[in-house]
Amino acid sequence: MLIVQKYGGSSVANTDRIKHVASRVAQCRARGDRVVVVVSAMSGVTDNLIKLAREIMPLPNEREMDMLLATGEQTTIALTAIALHSLGIPAVSLTGAQAGIVTDGVHTKARIQNITPRKIHELLNQGQVVIVAGFQGQTREGQVTTLGRGGSDLTAIALAAAIKADLCQICTDVDGVYTADPRLVPDAKKLEEISYDEMLELASLGAKVMQSRSVEFAKKFGVVFEVRSSLNDHPGTIVKEETKNMEAVVVRGVSLDKNQAKVTLVGVPDKPGVAARIFKAIGDAGVNVDMIVQNISHGSGAPATDLSFTVDKPDLPRAQKTLDALKPDIGFGRILATEKIGKLSIVGVGMKSHTGVAGRMFDTLAREGVNIDMISTSEIKISVVVDLGKAEQAMRAVHAAFLG
Ligand code: ADP
Ligand code: ASP
Ligand code: MG
Repeated sequence: MLIVQKYGGSSVANTDRIKHVASRVAQCRARGDRVVVVVSAMSGVTDNLIKLAREIMPLPNEREMDMLLATGEQTTIALTAIALHSLGIPAVSLTGAQAGIVTDGVHTKARIQNITPRKIHELLNQGQVVIVAGFQGQTREGQVTTLGRGGSDLTAIALAAAIKADLCQICTDVDGVYTADPRLVPDAKKLEEISYDEMLELASLGAKVMQSRSVEFAKKFGVVFEVRSSLNDHPGTIVKEETKNMEAVVVRGVSLDKNQAKVTLVGVPDKPGVAARIFKAIGDAGVNVDMIVQNISHGSGAPATDLSFTVDKPDLPRAQKTLDALKPDIGFGRILATEKIGKLSIVGVGMKSHTGVAGRMFDTLAREGVNIDMISTSEIKISVVVDLGKAEQAMRAVHAAFLG
């Protein structure tokens, strides 16, 4: 079998863990498998590199950030190759560029455009274990790029598609994908399987177990993959195309995103074109807007609305700067901003065919005394914004109601 195995930061956190990874790869080889290993930076390394750069200036140049961050994974590939050599196993490490991963030029969140796995095949044919640096690639012009935080997942899935691997395993510090983050919800249960769409929603709504772009890629190219532990041999969670019987389960999982901030514009003139101008300016500033709520105020005077929306926390300063500049022009009142929110979501393809799910979620929150600030729904998810201080309690209650 041809296997792609990805090991995340905590699985390569120190040299003992790296030796453990090597011994697992050795087991695969002993069974006769050919293995491509993708590794992340040792846990904490990427965060630390970002911190170092920001000690020098708050918004460092993104090309240089990629140059800096790519070193994290480069350390791990070489150490993993050395660990395999110490077991007498031939292994070669490759950077993203050497592995043939070509991306666009959007530094710090580049997209993979193409993979030419010629070198990988060549080395596999020589009997080598190939170890590829996750999270990085190179533009056609030879610039080093990175694929967004958590991007080693994407490297693994894209490589599995490119080399037509028989198996793609995402090895991490939990036994698989759970009904909720097991660190926040002790009662969470491991799922045997989950559809791409559910995994994609959970990932983009805060479940960091998979990078959401990697799931998007897997769905697009039909890469079936397994999320499993790097520390034991328990079967993990299979992520694959939706099957008919998956709809029998109403809620597959619960997630909590603590990385959003809420902005409220008070007294926005209620006339055509105003929202368009506000969100165009915010979009042009590169700020991603998620939920939007508008309330018509019925007071005397010119009609006005309060407009609230959420943005990614790191984007808040840029959003505020853009709005400050827009304020005199459009003529809204105050700009209120808070980072003390949590976005709690329930996800499941079964919602398509079951009714009353929202009512049950809201009822659970009411009984916990948790106020709902904003709501958004899609065919397979319901999200609410709640006070950050009550978010974890709310998550456990909602999990117990649907999945307990
Ligand atoms: P790696 O370093 O291997 O990429 P991550 O830290 O990125 O690992 O992702 C694994 C973590 O994701 C787990 O430790 C867990 O706390 C968190 N997590 C969040 N939601 C879930 C979930 N639904 N199921 C499993 N793990 C989850
Ligand atoms: N090292 C990168 C990060 O911390 C990529 C990854 O771990 O997947 O985001
Ligand atoms: Mg990760």
